[in-house]
Amino acid sequence: MPSYRLLHRPVALALMLGLLAVLPARADVAAPPLDPAVAAVLPRISAAQMRATDERLVGFGTRSTFSERAGPKRGVFAARAYLVERFRQIARSSGGRMTVALDTYTQPADPKKRIPRDVVISSVIATLRGDDPSGRTYVMSSHYDSRNTNNDDGDHDAPGADDNGSATSAVVEAARVLASVPLHATVAFACFDSEEQGLFGSAHYAQTLKAAHVDVEGDLNNDIIGASIGDDGVKRDDVVRIFSEALPPGTDPARVNVIGGENDSPSRELARFAKETGDAYPIGLRGVLIFRADRFLRGGDHESFNAQGFPAIRFVEPVENFNHQHQDVRVENGVQYGDLLQYLDFDYLAKVTRYNVAALATLALAPATPKVTMDTKALDNNTTLSWPPVPRAVRYEVLRRSTSDPVWTAVDDAGAATTATLKFSKDNWLFGVRAVDAEGHRSPAGYPTPVRS
Ligand SMILES: [Zn+2]
Repeated sequence: MPSYRLLHRPVALALMLGLLAVLPARADVAAPPLDPAVAAVLPRISAAQMRATDERLVGFGTRSTFSERAGPKRGVFAARAYLVERFRQIARSSGGRMTVALDTYTQPADPKKRIPRDVVISSVIATLRGDDPSGRTYVMSSHYDSRNTNNDDGDHDAPGADDNGSATSAVVEAARVLASVPLHATVAFACFDSEEQGLFGSAHYAQTLKAAHVDVEGDLNNDIIGASIGDDGVKRDDVVRIFSEALPPGTDPARVNVIGGENDSPSRELARFAKETGDAYPIGLRGVLIFRADRFLRGGDHESFNAQGFPAIRFVEPVENFNHQHQDVRVENGVQYGDLLQYLDFDYLAKVTRYNVAALATLALAPATPKVTMDTKALDNNTTLSWPPVPRAVRYEVLRRSTSDPVWTAVDDAGAATTATLKFSKDNWLFGVRAVDAEGHRSPAGYPTPVRS
């Protein structure tokens, strides 16, 4: 029986009585069916495991990029060694599919870039190989470096419990529960160095993927996801913010101004997909889509992927407390400053991690996003969409919404065809096409490129 939850009562009643033949399109049309394998993985995500991981990370005193020479028990490379060891342990349950590597280079001194001296930057990457021959790849990322008040202080404590021990614990935990799950797409679990100086670790890795022609179809970046109480003292442990950019690099804003599409970048379709999927599972968390790349005065590693033309989104807790970020640990006028473990809510962190894993596993199980074109040759009131067949897809769905709606509101089954003509005007509606496999996994929506020839 379809869900009548979101319908007006008289409409629901009419439907139940069989008086209406056509389901009115509502927001729940995009809700995907739950995959039993994914549902079984989510409860394995453990708040206690993530607390233990974050305690270890904080225990290195500082993870400043400039603490790289501090020794085996303190500093960023001590934390790096710990992460490598954790991923190697996790890889043992992957049947040889997970490999652990460092992405390392020397960043030359550049005071304009907040790099006062030459420094070795080194990110930890655990790659779980899928069986899809295309090598289609998704990334779940965090940064494991931390900072205090001074951006280049490698000596004094910078606990970084929330920024970003929280998400680093989430990436390790996601790798732990997914390592034994067979996936089609390849998943890279990435913990970046030198986010705090300007996204250096992620920029190097994203450039490396681009140069190697890896088909990166999405990065789920997590940064500051562990506190459910913000600076207003109100607890909000049922929401997570999802940021996404409007236009990818290379877009012609003048053309977008004429034909639309300003709200349908691949990153934004990925954000919609993450929300649809995460909201559907019984996690107790709702995604709030924020249609901008990041918060004011702040950035994150997803932007390194965006810069290479890869879809990427950022998860972040609902309300931040800036006394706990980028601060020396101290008490001033009775106020405690510093990014300390005591402010984290590990049950909330576990929910955000489950939300990520639901989306990530579904992405890696689903067919790839269709590459769709829209025929704009004819002056008529129909819409014709076409797309090449997607491997493993058994059918396709055409999504639709009005130009002023933020999320898809209607879906039409296109069957196994790779073209569809709809009796809805391309002038008045936005469309997307998603691929569906035999088990019901749905890809993110492919937004059509208009073609006139
Ligand atoms: Zn951060």
